[in-house]
Amino acid sequence: MSRKTIIAGNWKMNKTPKEAEALLGEVLPKAAGAACEVVVCTPYVDLPTACRVAAGSKVKVGAQNVHFEASGAFTGEISTGMLNELGVAYVIIGHSERREYFAETDETVSKKIGAALAAGILPILCVGESLEQREQNVTSEHIRTQIKVALRNVSAADMPKVVIAYEPIWAIGTGKTATSAQAQEVCQMVRETVKECFDAAVADSVSILYGGSMNAKNAAELLAQPDIDGGLIGGASLKAEDFGKIIAAAG
Ligand code: PEP
Repeated sequence: MSRKTIIAGNWKMNKTPKEAEALLGEVLPKAAGAACEVVVCTPYVDLPTACRVAAGSKVKVGAQNVHFEASGAFTGEISTGMLNELGVAYVIIGHSERREYFAETDETVSKKIGAALAAGILPILCVGESLEQREQNVTSEHIRTQIKVALRNVSAADMPKVVIAYEPIWAIGTGKTATSAQAQEVCQMVRETVKECFDAAVADSVSILYGGSMNAKNAAELLAQPDIDGGLIGGASLKAEDFGKIIAAAG
């Protein structure tokens, strides 16, 4: 198994460029000796600063969204070419907050994954169920559909570049973490779904992250699960101390 362990911070709509420079300055030394890949996904306006500060370090910079078209009349949107020019390595696609508040659909997610891959930017595809879906026992069905639609135009050759983050919506920003058993169960199902769409070798090569109130205390147990290859971290990524502990827990 050659898949990467990835610890990715999602700063959401937090930190001005100056604040981003200060936080990243604290994160860099904590990531310096990391065996895993460390990523910080910042607001768009912080990306130039983050790319400059992180240049030559262990930390890769990611965006939190991208448009699927190359250019044109899409007021307020950002293209892959714009991200490329800054040196952005990753982009979060289909985060549940984008799906809930900004009408992101499996269709747009699919197009965005295609655009990111075509531009050489590594997509972090987010999937996950609501509390209602979990209680109705449709978690697996829902996530399988999200993955199948999102990946339907991706080639097997491109799949090792795709990162999938399983993020139960009920665990995001709530302080309510999925148990390691719950997280492992779904991450295993995610890998099975990738296997059905492609094959076992492709499924083995894909890094699957868990996201949802991961913190310095629970990270080690979650990261020890066989199908969890890292974390997508919101709140705890805004505190260098905590983010550093999660990086250390990833080995
Ligand atoms: C996220 O935003 O992807 C996330 C997992 O947030 P938090 O860690 O705050 O739950």
